[in-house]
Amino acid sequence: MKIGIVGAAGRMGRMLIAEVLGTGGCQLAGGTEQPGSDAIGQDLGVLIGADEQGLSIGDDARALFEASDAVVDFTQPEATMGHAALSGETGVALIVGTTGLEAPHMEALGRAAAKAAVVQAANMSVGVNLLLGLTEQVANALGEDYDIEIAEMHHRHKVDAPSGTALALGAAAAKGRGVDLNEVSDRGRDGETGPRKAGDIGFSVIRGGDVAGDHWVVFAGPGERVELTHKAGSREIFARGALRAALWTEGRAPGLYSMRDVLGLD
Ligand code: NAD
Repeated sequence: MKIGIVGAAGRMGRMLIAEVLGTGGCQLAGGTEQPGSDAIGQDLGVLIGADEQGLSIGDDARALFEASDAVVDFTQPEATMGHAALSGETGVALIVGTTGLEAPHMEALGRAAAKAAVVQAANMSVGVNLLLGLTEQVANALGEDYDIEIAEMHHRHKVDAPSGTALALGAAAAKGRGVDLNEVSDRGRDGETGPRKAGDIGFSVIRGGDVAGDHWVVFAGPGERVELTHKAGSREIFARGALRAALWTEGRAPGLYSMRDVLGLD
């Protein structure tokens, strides 16, 4: 399969180049960066310190889609909107790891999914996708006596908060409880907050260093606490998961899929 990488010079883009080069059954179709980026014109292999690949980073996303069987997107939400439109127009599969997606971005992915296989996940790791299932299960089993709090820590460069994974964990907990996360989420505590509101799902955010991504889900009840934790040791797990998703789309019918679909966890 020919894999295209948009945002190829980013932290995840570089990981993806390495992953594609090191995986059998796929080859690099090319990569793009945003217009004006210093990386444009650089060879994809040289960019990551590997052998020259004879493919340089461009800024023509349409040309990349036309040359690819699947395109992987770890960029930023506005860019993902454009890539979703191209996926819909070309029928080329799109794997979206970009976080911070709001309703208009998800609607654009929904439109693309009428014509192409689209996989979207705020976290592409196997462990976190297991954690999502466990969170839903525990929230369902424990009931409202147990306060649910979600905390996350990421590297100092991360631009959105709480992380897409923390919000997905909140959604899983809310689903387990049979409530709507939008109605119970508490995302900003500061100053005279008053006591904790029963039934809320609280979020806490820590930023610093080069942490790839830690998440905790705490169920704090009377006299006991259940904690579920996942710690990502390196960003490689996300790149590996994204490439697994890209390979999984081969011959797949159009539709909007999750990483749980890719991993067969549902
Ligand atoms: P980054 O800033 O290092 O990389 C993003 C790259 O996208 C940059 O090089 C930027 O120039 C490029 N870009 C922006 N607009 C573009 C456009 N229109 N066309 C082409 N390239 C464009 O960020 P990162 O750490 O690699 O993370 C990227 C995204 O992936 C973030 O939203 C992050 O939260 C998310 N992420 C998701 C997972 C997951 O498992 N789903 C894991 C890690 C990171």
